[in-house]
Amino acid sequence: MNHITSLKCLICGKEYQPDEIDYVCPDHGYEGIVDVQYDYGLISLSFRPQNLADDRDYSIWRYKPLLPIEPDSPVPPLAVGWTPLYEAPRLAAPLGLKHLWVKDDGRQATASFKDRASAIAVVKAQEKGAAIITTASTGNAAAALSGICASVQQPNVIFVPETAPPAKIAQLLTFGSTVMLVHGTYDDAFDLCLQAAETYGWYNRNTGFNPYMSEGKKTVSFEICEQLSLTPGPSPAGRGGMWQAPDAIFVSVGDGCIIGGVHKGLRDLLELGWIDHMPRIYGVQAAGSNFMAEAWQAGLYGLRVLEKPPIDAHTVADSISAGLPRDRIKAMAAVVDTGGAYVTVTDDEILAAIPVLARGCGVFAEPAGATSYAGLVKAVEQGLVSPDDRIVVINTGSGLKDVKSAMTAVEQAGTRPYRVEPNLADLQRVMAEIGR
Ligand SMILES: *Cc1c(COP(=O)(O)O)cnc(C)c1O
Ligand SMILES: [Zn+2]
Repeated sequence: MNHITSLKCLICGKEYQPDEIDYVCPDHGYEGIVDVQYDYGLISLSFRPQNLADDRDYSIWRYKPLLPIEPDSPVPPLAVGWTPLYEAPRLAAPLGLKHLWVKDDGRQATASFKDRASAIAVVKAQEKGAAIITTASTGNAAAALSGICASVQQPNVIFVPETAPPAKIAQLLTFGSTVMLVHGTYDDAFDLCLQAAETYGWYNRNTGFNPYMSEGKKTVSFEICEQLSLTPGPSPAGRGGMWQAPDAIFVSVGDGCIIGGVHKGLRDLLELGWIDHMPRIYGVQAAGSNFMAEAWQAGLYGLRVLEKPPIDAHTVADSISAGLPRDRIKAMAAVVDTGGAYVTVTDDEILAAIPVLARGCGVFAEPAGATSYAGLVKAVEQGLVSPDDRIVVINTGSGLKDVKSAMTAVEQAGTRPYRVEPNLADLQRVMAEIGR
């Protein structure tokens, strides 16, 4: 048995047993997103930080008792989770900060954060014996589902906007998914996918609809707090078995599922008593896709976020382009309940952040991945963080996902390659030129 006690509707608070509903609260339709509730007392009886210290399974599955899957369910073989957490002093210093880490989820199996959620989707679908899994996606959730399905030979149908970057579409086709390039936006693809899933009875992985996706995404918070406890200093045992929560976490926001997951993971750890405080969570949005930032600014907290109509979303950071963030209730709570903030950055600031992040710590991010770092820069300007804060910035996707944007970014940064004939004399000419 897993440790789920109920699925609780975020709108009416009604609680369901996991076998009563598949996705949302029937009384509230697509907006009736449910939050998975666990029996923390029961979990604590057998699952402690000390167990994990001896566990060599360095993947999200090390946290199985806190995941919404059966203990004996087979998990996909593709490596998901336990991505590196790099300390980044050269990025920190120019910002006047002392403690900064970059959590690099570009290092996931399919090169984005979305593997954390898609891995859970595949396990849940197989628990239900689903013949086909489907999702709509700006690209990364699709690539993640596609790759993990390929690893277990699970048929799947994917809906992406036809404008998705070629690398992401190449992943889908290479993994052998059935790919629907939708002539429209991500929001159009989402709606079509929901209809398709209902019509054909497919298992639906859609973000902000399937309640288990935030549960996969929360594993990033487990890893951050466990990894921080492994850095030099008193050992976890010396701190009474406690893990270490940072003071602030920066994450980019499109649909709001990742930020909701980050919050959920921290709430789990606080409930279990494995961390002693809740970090402030900062959501970073692109200026052209800033639904959450606008709603937060307008004070539309709690369920009032549902009052805001969709916006027209346009940004170079395709992965966070969302006119109507599907997980907006959780995304609002993550910031409001933790004393964080929403920060907005322009497309130029996002592009500028790509080479700065890469040169400052060796992490190559796609635009939506570098957005979190651009948001940190903005937060420093706005005085939202203090020099002593221990800060984690999450890179959510690899730069190889969108080479075109990377090339634009380096061009704007004034970096260019040199052209040289294949002989030493010409190289010496170029070197002399560089010397000048
Ligand atoms: C999906 C995604 C995000 C945003 O996650 P949401 O849950 O939609 O807010 C950020 N960065 C990358 C690279 C993504 O793929
Ligand atoms: Zn409800």
